[in-house]
Amino acid sequence: MLTDVHVAVIGGDARQLEVIRKLIEFDAKVSLVGFDQLDHGFTGATKYQLHEVAFEDVDAIVLPVPGTNLEGQVETIFSNEKVILTEDILKETKEHCKIYSGISNDYLNAITKSAGRELVQLFERDDIAIYNSIPTVEGAIMLVIQHTDFTIHNSNVAVLGLGRVGMSVARSFGVLGAKVKVGARRSEHLARVSEMGLTPFHLSNLETEMSNVDICINTIPYPVLTAGAISKMPSHSLIIDLASKPGGTDFRYAEKRGIKAMLTPGLPGIVAPKTAGKIVANVLSQLLMEDAQKRGESTS
Ligand code: NAP
Repeated sequence: MLTDVHVAVIGGDARQLEVIRKLIEFDAKVSLVGFDQLDHGFTGATKYQLHEVAFEDVDAIVLPVPGTNLEGQVETIFSNEKVILTEDILKETKEHCKIYSGISNDYLNAITKSAGRELVQLFERDDIAIYNSIPTVEGAIMLVIQHTDFTIHNSNVAVLGLGRVGMSVARSFGVLGAKVKVGARRSEHLARVSEMGLTPFHLSNLETEMSNVDICINTIPYPVLTAGAISKMPSHSLIIDLASKPGGTDFRYAEKRGIKAMLTPGLPGIVAPKTAGKIVANVLSQLLMEDAQKRGESTS
């Protein structure tokens, strides 16, 4: 349990509602900032304006997946309040206060460091990344269906990258009956692709491999799908780029060639916000309990 643990949840979208629900279920003291327009009244959580929160009593701050922007502003879908997280606010918190965010940026790194507070980037964790790959794959399947006039079954699909997302994408499209090949650069990844019953190819052969591809799904956050590779693709082919912005595709060239190419960030939050929220909520509540246990607080 999280009895006596004070968590400030600052901003966020529908995913954060699952986090709030979980924190209340575990009996945490929950202060909400950026939720004043939310109809749902959470019994056991109190809505505040940022300046009203007693940060000197706060054990953990939970930010939305993107954290802050580069000016420190926190996204607040359920409020018009402009919420800026500053170093001074962090310095007010208890010394052991941790800041939980999905991802980070230079601003958030800088203020947490100078305030001497630990920043935890949840999306760097393997467990969250692997769970999140499930709604990501479902989103990718949805987009492919929406943007093609042929079935996934029997189509030639190239997946680039065999990380946490790439592995789930490759396996799922294989199960749907596509002829899947996977491009990677590490020999152990190529071996794993073979073991999965799919066709491996080394990324150095990408241009040659693209000539018969109907659908290319990129998961590599590096410019791999170059103009050279796209020039070899059939004109009817579709590129779904799952990698974080700016993706790994030469979108300018794809458009010039008339090949549909889409950068598709944030699919879990779009196709399954409830599941995406639960994924974060489950891991976060576990981490908060571990923190409280280390401090010798109530976790019975
Ligand atoms: P990951 O586990 O780190 O996998 C990344 C893959 O890219 C690995 O196979 C890695 O291979 C490869 N790679 C990285 N840099 C490379 C380079 N320079 N050349 C060749 N290969 C390279 O990451 P992940 O969790 O699968 O996530 C993949 C991307 O999807 C990330 O950008 C993530 O932010 C994004 N994502 C998007 C969504 C969405 O909704 N669109 C959802 C979740 C994640 P090596 O091991 O050889 O480095």
